Amino acid sequence: MAAPKTIPPFHPISAPDYLPHDQLRELQSRRLIHMVKRAYEKVELYRNRMNKMGVTPDDIQSIDDIVKLPFTMKVDLRDTYPYGMFASPLKDIVRLHASSGTTGKPIVVAYTKEDLEVWDEVVARSLVGYGVTSQDIVQNAYGYGLFTGGLGLHGGASALGCTVVPISGGNTERQIMIMRDFNVTCCSATPSYFVHIIDKAHRMGINMRDLPIKFGVFGAEPWSEEVRHYIEEEAGIRAFNIYGLSEILGPGVGAECCFQDGMHIFEDHFFPEIIDPATGEPLPDGTEGELVLSTLSKEAMPMLRYRTRDITTIDVEQCPCGRTIRRIRPIRRRSDDMLIVRGVNVFPSQIETGILRVEGASPHFQIVLEKGADGLDRIEVKVEATDAAVDDTVRSVEQFQQKIQQSISQIIGLSVRVTLVQPYTLIRSEGKVNRVVDNRNK
Ligand code: ADP
Ligand code: ZN
Repeated sequence: MAAPKTIPPFHPISAPDYLPHDQLRELQSRRLIHMVKRAYEKVELYRNRMNKMGVTPDDIQSIDDIVKLPFTMKVDLRDTYPYGMFASPLKDIVRLHASSGTTGKPIVVAYTKEDLEVWDEVVARSLVGYGVTSQDIVQNAYGYGLFTGGLGLHGGASALGCTVVPISGGNTERQIMIMRDFNVTCCSATPSYFVHIIDKAHRMGINMRDLPIKFGVFGAEPWSEEVRHYIEEEAGIRAFNIYGLSEILGPGVGAECCFQDGMHIFEDHFFPEIIDPATGEPLPDGTEGELVLSTLSKEAMPMLRYRTRDITTIDVEQCPCGRTIRRIRPIRRRSDDMLIVRGVNVFPSQIETGILRVEGASPHFQIVLEKGADGLDRIEVKVEATDAAVDDTVRSVEQFQQKIQQSISQIIGLSVRVTLVQPYTLIRSEGKVNRVVDNRNK
């Protein structure tokens, strides 16, 4: 049974979510002033960069002055690998995590004891927003290890007093057995992995709707509204979005509330801005652009105006749940994921939407890019066949492929070739999924 769409009871840990505007700004200003002083004193990269711009910590008097600060980029973390961005001595650092990045050296991130407490708090605030309580049994299927997902969710769920099952990703049959035998009520995972869990349960003859699970906590990768619908229908749960990135913290930078309409950013700890990615100019709330985040309380590794490369909008309207902290629209696009096909920008999430808009289509797909004999790019989308879609006659296979083709083309404005493949033949992910095979430069 899915959790009902009611506003969950107030929990004191969430008090900062409801701070009156003036108090929130006052808190943000105070924290920013302190953070910038520390960053300037302790981190050479920040000091050099601010000196170059002619900005000193004294120029930062309130949160409005944040725009005077320099940006930080992923490459800065790479250039200072491994410990160059730390503002605390190693004796005060109690945890390191690393994100794979795309190439070369990983990005290392650090936490003091106080940083871990903030992390627990914001993940707990996320769970409270969904309606999770200390009564819930949380199966944490995010990967444990250097990836921030596993331990991040674990800490927050424990802080809230939930019963945590630290299963990590993988071994999907066992995941389902445990989910059933332990009466799990909440599962956290990447959305692509949860879709795989649903699929496996189906094959094991288990209807997830019959299990006590009510809540899903999904993040770490973009997912469409269509996938939410699919998961909620197939598993009989409510599927909630959680956002975060290692450079800032990990999961728990922002999360949906019971209204499932945008993610509240815990802006007493992480200050969001939107900028024009081309010029770096700040854009007003309500305008789409690149999300920039600054940590306000992080000790081990403060981040000044970190450019996330995630594309979103900050909502102008206050959420009906009563939280005063602002919301961002779900992130469907990350500049890193963008494919340029015949000069057109295409995001895998758009293809996912196109597929799932066709009734009965499978959420398991792969995008293959090739260069044709004419030198032009071609996109092929392989989609697994489903019983609902195909009755073995060639005609119905072709018709179904065409339907999906049209649906995708309508969204991306390019023609694509869709091929139905045998069920369960495409690679399944246990963490973040990679759906793209690019053979164009081979
Ligand atoms: P990496 O950069 O190696 O993927 P992270 O694990 O820190 O390392 O991933 C953070 C990124 O994951 C975010 O910048 C964002 O692009 C993506 N992400 C995280 N949560 C979500 C979410 N709920 N929706 C969409 N994208 C997300
Ligand atoms: Zn809300």
